[in-house]
Amino acid sequence: MPLHPVLAIVGRPNVGKSSLLNRIVGYRHAIVDPTPGVTRDRNYAEAVWNSRHFCVVDTGGLDPDDQQPLMQAIRSQVDFALREAAAILFVGDARDGLHGDDSEILRLLRKNCPDKPLYVAINKIDNPAEIDVLTAEFYRLGVDRLFPVSAVHGMGVADLLDVIVEPFERASAEEETVAAPLERIAIVGKPNVGKSSLFNRLLGQDRSIVDNVPGTTRDAITVSVDRKGRTYRFIDTAGLRRPARQKDNVEFFSVFRTLDAIQKSDLAVLVLDASEGVITEQDKRIAGRVVDAGSGCIIVWNKWDVADKTARPWDELLEETRKAFPLLNFAPVTTTSARTGQRVDKLFDLIDRIQETGRHRIPDERLKQILYEAVTIQPPSPIAGRPIHLKNLRQLNGPPIVFRLTASDPKHVHFSYQRYLLNHIRQEFQFEGWPVRLSVAR
Ligand code: GDP
Ligand code: GDP
Repeated sequence: MPLHPVLAIVGRPNVGKSSLLNRIVGYRHAIVDPTPGVTRDRNYAEAVWNSRHFCVVDTGGLDPDDQQPLMQAIRSQVDFALREAAAILFVGDARDGLHGDDSEILRLLRKNCPDKPLYVAINKIDNPAEIDVLTAEFYRLGVDRLFPVSAVHGMGVADLLDVIVEPFERASAEEETVAAPLERIAIVGKPNVGKSSLFNRLLGQDRSIVDNVPGTTRDAITVSVDRKGRTYRFIDTAGLRRPARQKDNVEFFSVFRTLDAIQKSDLAVLVLDASEGVITEQDKRIAGRVVDAGSGCIIVWNKWDVADKTARPWDELLEETRKAFPLLNFAPVTTTSARTGQRVDKLFDLIDRIQETGRHRIPDERLKQILYEAVTIQPPSPIAGRPIHLKNLRQLNGPPIVFRLTASDPKHVHFSYQRYLLNHIRQEFQFEGWPVRLSVAR
């Protein structure tokens, strides 16, 4: 998946950062997705504006701990912006007026992130007639341009976004449909499930090379591991190679980095904790991200050595896993113990198999037949009396696994019909471990 630049929204509490984030990404993203297994984060979302893809992070959600003194919370916002952001959006509150803390935040941003584009929006200007009156005092912040906005009404947000996304790279036409194959693996999961331990098990036996030393934490570290004549490229998430005490203590950083790694890889190993034996909201959130990213997936219950197998026999655990992650029903589920080494080797055999599956191509000729058979059994419903002509079916280079269907009227190939075609394709080849998508074009 392509890596998108991050826009960090910074400001005092209650100035409207999260409202602005919701406005930027559209309500579509802001609401909690009712699909089971997909719980979206309130303070992180992807957005597209003028064909530029980017991520928006409401840094106010960095640490939900109310006990934290304000300036400390703000320091972690600034720290986040410094480490991860491509651009920074500072938000002030027109109703509240200019605040001493606003000047202090701006001073910190200028000092710590001098090279990053910094935009200043003044929010809660719900009535355009009030722009001049309400923004005047904010010029004391010493910025050339203030962007008056109303997160609630949407006023001014489009102009602001036009300016912010201008330096971001435009998505190519190809990128819109399918990402370049990366063949990278991410080991993801909430803290303490044993990701580092699993990873070290592997490194312990074999040679590993850190491919690149990053300039910032936003550049992923890839670690290549040679095993039995094959090279595996892992994305180092949330400090896989760091000892526990050096891991990010701010939970949000590790969540963010996990999301980032999922996007940069095409195969996610989702690790769950078998000593707990339950699937938590946090597990579901991470699984939801794997689903959103469309990457391949293997689900691993680690710490199997200390799992209570009488309370929760394997078949029950498997059933619960399927129930909790219905959208990952393509993912194989296995157990490991990073402590004893049990089945760790098997996990890597499984990774081999899934990577192989991800490279499988159904020949064009065969796809033509599959399309013909599917249409013969059930043609797509006509639209306004006009039949929809399905012309061709072709597999794009992947992973991810994407099939391109060409149709006379692409917009009207109903979702349920697309699913019907996908089922036909899955009957030809399972693509174990991979979601299979259809892209319909003229
Ligand atoms: P955050 O703490 O900075 O993320 O702020 P929120 O987005 O939670 O907003 C704080 C309060 O300000 C909420 O009650 C919002 O409804 C309100 N608010 C946010 N944007 C606007 C706006 O453009 N106009 C008005 N009148 N109120 C707003
Ligand atoms: P991470 O935060 O997901 O990278 O988790 P770590 O690899 O740091 O492991 C967290 C804790 O779980 C450590 O105390 C590990 O020793 C322990 N742990 C990891 N894997 C296993 C396992 O398979 N069995 C048992 N019993 N403990 C494990």
